[in-house]
Formats: sequence, structure tokens, C-alpha cells
Amino acid sequence: MTDIFKQIVSEIREAKHIVITSHKGPDGDSIGCSLGLYYFIKKLNRKVSVCHPDMAPEFLQWLHGSEEIFSFENDPQNVQHLLSEADLIFCLDYNSPERVGKEMSELLLAAKGKKVMIDHHPYPADFCQIVVSDTACCSTSQLIFELIDQSVNVDKLDENIGTPLYLGIMTDTGSFRFPSVTSRTHEVISTLLKAGVKHSDVHEKVYDSNTLDRLQLRGFAVAEKFEKIPGLPVALISLTKEELERFHYKKGDTEGLVNVALSVDGIKAAAFFVERDGEVKISFRSKGEYFVNELAMQHFSGGGHKYAAGGMSLDSLSDTIIRFKKLVPEFFS
Ligand code: 5GP
Ligand code: MN
Repeated sequence: MTDIFKQIVSEIREAKHIVITSHKGPDGDSIGCSLGLYYFIKKLNRKVSVCHPDMAPEFLQWLHGSEEIFSFENDPQNVQHLLSEADLIFCLDYNSPERVGKEMSELLLAAKGKKVMIDHHPYPADFCQIVVSDTACCSTSQLIFELIDQSVNVDKLDENIGTPLYLGIMTDTGSFRFPSVTSRTHEVISTLLKAGVKHSDVHEKVYDSNTLDRLQLRGFAVAEKFEKIPGLPVALISLTKEELERFHYKKGDTEGLVNVALSVDGIKAAAFFVERDGEVKISFRSKGEYFVNELAMQHFSGGGHKYAAGGMSLDSLSDTIIRFKKLVPEFFS
């Protein structure tokens, strides 16, 4: 991988206009790897912008630089212009063009700039000239660290680069506890702390900054909407649009609820269904011998990792759940 990382850094040094993209529905890793790479490229004195399909939830908006991210949903003209003039385009934390949404994917595919994918999801599509696809790596943020380290630029690390990378690794590993964490992950974190990252600030801003509405929504979801599939180690939680409105839902409020369902004793696969923007968005999580990305891919127009995947449905919420329940015995028995 070292050679490809060195090649990417020489592409950065030669580029005039660089754009960093990531997937729709920003999470800690997509924001983290984007801003980590953004500040690294700035340190190399190149012109760079971050263009995301949509805005980050509030709990990820405190990061230095997040106010400089262009979002296609709010600012399509600027995103179109930046993509068309870019000579180097990074595709981070996703591996197929649809993940940036239909309209932005058309602009991305039409853009002339050389495309570089850096990602950790299985089954990469063929739309980038340079591809770093490491499905064993816990997060794209760790891969951005490897880019910096293996191209012998670790001396450039500072708090601006390190803090978003720490955030991305922390959120994609469930705070360093998923099987994807390795001794290398901890070495990376050690280097980030030496570079000045204030780890407890990051944890506090992400996990200890609840609104009461959010906590009450989550309490309601667990108390009233948790459902176990009889005879199988599978559970689900669903929330309707009305239920979200009752608790003054804000983007990010349901983040991680699916992991709460998975944390119940005896549950090995969990699904979370929510009515959002005229469709049903689904999150899947699993452990042990149960894999959820196949289910997401085959039946819910989605994909993801073995143990963390997502998808969507255009059926009603109740029809989507009925469909899921019919599929459960096939996938989880
Ligand atoms: P989440 O449940 O947190 O939204 O997503 C979990 C994982 O599934 C992430 O790695 C994400 O990239 C992937 N994922 C979520 N939604 C989709 C989707 O609609 N399509 C694909 N291909 N992957 C998704
Ligand atoms: Mn990721």
C-alpha cells in the first residue's frame, strides 16, 4: 500500500484544484476522513474543498472546518462548479457513485478530474482511476492516517488533522470496541494523541451532548418500539414520522439506536427502521456468524459491512417491516 499512498501524495502535490467527496448521510467517519485529509492537503499548500451531498448532524458540526464544507443540498451551484474544475477528486468512505445521491453522482461521473477512492467497504465499483480499498481497516479515517504516515508526512500531523481522524476512528469502531480494531488502530491513536488531539473533548462532544428531546425519543423507542422476533436472536426498532415529530426530531437523534437494540442480551442481529424524506431508511447491525450486508444489498437497495449495513425502502413503514420479518428466518436461523 505504501507505493499507492506515495503516488496519491504526488498527485496532490501536482494538482491545482482538489475536491474531497463523501457519502450521503454524513457520519463521524465520513466527516472525519474528509476534514483530516482537507487539513493535510492544506498543509501541502494545495487548493482544496470538501463537497458533501448533505449537511452533517449537529453533533458533528463542532469540528474545526465543518463550516467550510459545501453541501450539495444547500449549495448545488458551488458543488457543480468545484467538481467541474477539479483535477483531483477524492471519493472517501464510499465505493459506488450512487452513495452520493442521484444528482451529485451524475456530476461526479461527468467530472474530468482524476478520481481517487479511499474506502473500507466491500465490493468497490469501478469508477475511480486510483483505488485504495481495505475492507479489513476499521475506518476510512485510519486509512487517511496511513496515507499521511506511509508517505512519510507524519511530521505534518497537528490537531486540525488529528482531531477529525480521531473522531472518525472512534465512531466507526464504537469507541474502539468492534472486532475491526487492531493493535495498529491503537498505535494510530497513540500517534494522534502525541500530535495534540484532546481525546476526552471529542468523546464529550459526540456522546455527552444530548438534548432532552433526543434522550426522551431514545427512551420511547426502547420502551415502546423494541420488538423481538419470536424464536430468533433478532430484534427491531421502528419510528414513524409522527413519533419523530413528537420528540422534535433533529438529524442525528436516532444515531446508534440500532446498536442499543443489538446490545440486548441474546440479540445477534438488529434492524432500525425510520420514516425519513418520503422513504424508509434502514440500519442493520449484527455480530458473530450473522452478516447483514447481503440482506441490505439483496432486499433493501443498500450495502455496507458484514456487521454494519444500511438500505432503504419505498414501501410504507409497516409493509417494509412485514417484508423484513418474512426474510428473517432465511437470513438469521
Ligand atoms: P448506518 O446504519 O449507520 O446508516 O450505516 C451503516 C453502514 O452501512 C455504513 O457503513 C454505511 O456506509 C452503510 N450504508 C448505510 N446505508 C447505506 C445505503 O443506503 N447503501 C449502501 N450501499 N450502504 C449503506
Ligand atoms: Mn466508514
